[in-house]
Amino acid sequence: VVDLGMPTRSVLTTCAYCGVGCSFKAELRGDELVRMVPYKDGGANEGHSCVKGRFAFGYATHPDRRTKPMIREKITDEWRETDWETAISHVAAKFRDIQERKGSGSIGGITSSRCTNEEVFAVQKMVRAAFGNNNVDTCARVCHSPTGYGLKQTFGTSAGTQDFRSVAASDVIVVIGANPTDGHPVFASRMKRRLREGAKLIVIDPRRIDLVRTPHVEASHHLQLAPGTNVALVNAMAHVVVTEGLVDRSFVEDRCEEFDEWAEFIAREENSPEAVEDITGVPAEDVREAARLYATGGNAAIYYGLGVTEHSQGSTMVMGMANLAMATGNIGRDGVGVNPLRGQNNVQGSCDMGSFPHELSGYRHVADDAVREVFEKLWERPILDEPGLRIPNMFDAAVAGSFHGLFVQGEDIAQSDPNTQHVHAALEAMELVVVQDLFLNETAEFAHVFLPGTSFLEKDGTFTNAERRINRVRPVMAPKPGKDEWQVACEIARAMGYDMHYAHPSEIMDEIASVTPTFAGVSFAKLDEVGSVQWPCNDKAPQGTPVMHVGEFVRGKGRFVPTPFVASRERSTRRYPLVLTTGRILSQYNVGAQTRRTANVAWHPEDVLEIHPHDAEDRGISSGDLVELTSRVGSTTLKAEISDRMPVGVVYTTFHHPGTGANVVTTESSDWATNCPEYKVTAVQVGHAVVP
Ligand code: SF4
Repeated sequence: VVDLGMPTRSVLTTCAYCGVGCSFKAELRGDELVRMVPYKDGGANEGHSCVKGRFAFGYATHPDRRTKPMIREKITDEWRETDWETAISHVAAKFRDIQERKGSGSIGGITSSRCTNEEVFAVQKMVRAAFGNNNVDTCARVCHSPTGYGLKQTFGTSAGTQDFRSVAASDVIVVIGANPTDGHPVFASRMKRRLREGAKLIVIDPRRIDLVRTPHVEASHHLQLAPGTNVALVNAMAHVVVTEGLVDRSFVEDRCEEFDEWAEFIAREENSPEAVEDITGVPAEDVREAARLYATGGNAAIYYGLGVTEHSQGSTMVMGMANLAMATGNIGRDGVGVNPLRGQNNVQGSCDMGSFPHELSGYRHVADDAVREVFEKLWERPILDEPGLRIPNMFDAAVAGSFHGLFVQGEDIAQSDPNTQHVHAALEAMELVVVQDLFLNETAEFAHVFLPGTSFLEKDGTFTNAERRINRVRPVMAPKPGKDEWQVACEIARAMGYDMHYAHPSEIMDEIASVTPTFAGVSFAKLDEVGSVQWPCNDKAPQGTPVMHVGEFVRGKGRFVPTPFVASRERSTRRYPLVLTTGRILSQYNVGAQTRRTANVAWHPEDVLEIHPHDAEDRGISSGDLVELTSRVGSTTLKAEISDRMPVGVVYTTFHHPGTGANVVTTESSDWATNCPEYKVTAVQVGHAVVP
């Protein structure tokens, strides 16, 4: 037992792991962080927490932290520590030189959903105003970009519809492609409370997640569909709603448009549960029963995760769920809605802040003259009216020789993006890769400049969680690198000739509020006074907006969009007879850069490959055997774990440890609308590994 002693002071802040956004009191003794205590008045967590937020903060003071800028000419050279002034003028000079030789569009930046809204806003402004292009994208590209697209097309804005509290009024809860007990544990507890009170649960997932059967909770339906067939399944549910007369006619007539065209499409026989049974693998009668329950069981809410978005039809599926919710009138009040469970702490915020190459803050297109004019007037710089490059386009352009310099804010693209080999080739092809991070991550192996970043314990700003709740993040300790991340973006911009200056991050929020109508009423002073607010927060909604689309959709009328099913290009073949899908576990977080540097790693020291007993027997594989997992793009070695959580023909792994690198096998296949990678469907073969 370690005596940590009594704390002498505390700082109210926000967890930096998942999109639940739990509030904590960081308790200190002197300058030493003693413990994280969940805050009972936290808007998102009401005093609850999980093992990540509560215990996994030690990475912030881990000896692997780099706190000095470093430079090298070639990626094969040794790193050389330097001071901030030298590093910043070096970065600015290199970016300027590349632009002079190769054109202004030959450089760009990537923002991080781990960083604050203010830090993200500063980087996208640096790209747009100092780099002079729209080549800015965010790591949400590889997770929830289809949410942004799909919900905007149907409802008019790129965000979930409800606050977490709303689930207490749900009678039917549908969980699609999410594993809340592992990925969003504090929200899962709220959900389970409601299920124990009697709400019905429908789980749509290839894997038998814990929620399907857990103490005092049992799903009434587990639609265990084949990976890559979400759209066929949601269309089949909508087909039942339309053809069995379960449409909420008054809601549709009063609140929506383009219903008749959609209804004609969805009523076609090809969308019936019977017609798609062979595609989805789900018995037609189960689909019919689930659809009837959703449509007639009272308030019905959809919660979904990356098992929806990380598909070649991720955006189509988001629209398919929105269609289903509108057709049954399950939008615009407590207990209903379409709700993305965001993976990272600030995915919502990084998207809100104008990190997409086609959108300025508040999801307004760069082609909109009136919107551009607002920013141009304030920033005194022209903004291009054409979208810039998305992350995968940057990689392709780098390999093709037309993109040469990249600023990467807190994202390990070399490990977390699909088709690792292609990402490595792109990074190797660039003249300048600047990585800003806590650790020398995998991407830093390809970097020419490393700029030390700050952990959440050093940040001063805001995160926006999955329910659009803007929470304050307050510094518990001084920035270890001696500089805040937003200051670094400002200084690079200034060194490139664009005067970007703030005295405090609250001034960045003030600027965000001045140019973003949904944030018009947000300020640090307001957040300090009321705790948190959910956007839109403005004159119309000074206290924020817990439930959206009440009375009217953001776009006026909710829009039905036909969603034809198109099979994934990734499908099992004789050579690759199994399908790989991926997910997370409770104690670990994403690529593990943080949680692997805490005691939580003991709970999950390695990634394993879950394989069904029949598939294992066919291959003579036992639990604990080392197996080689091979796709058409690469192969990796993992330990096998025999499990019947997956159906026959499907294997599953996590991606928390760089050694096993699931993304060595994931392919370039991606969502048609947003290029979000199809992480959830990869045709693979599995065999015994050859151990030297
Ligand atoms: Fe942090 Fe998410 Fe756990 Fe809350 S549920 S403590 S936000 S990781």
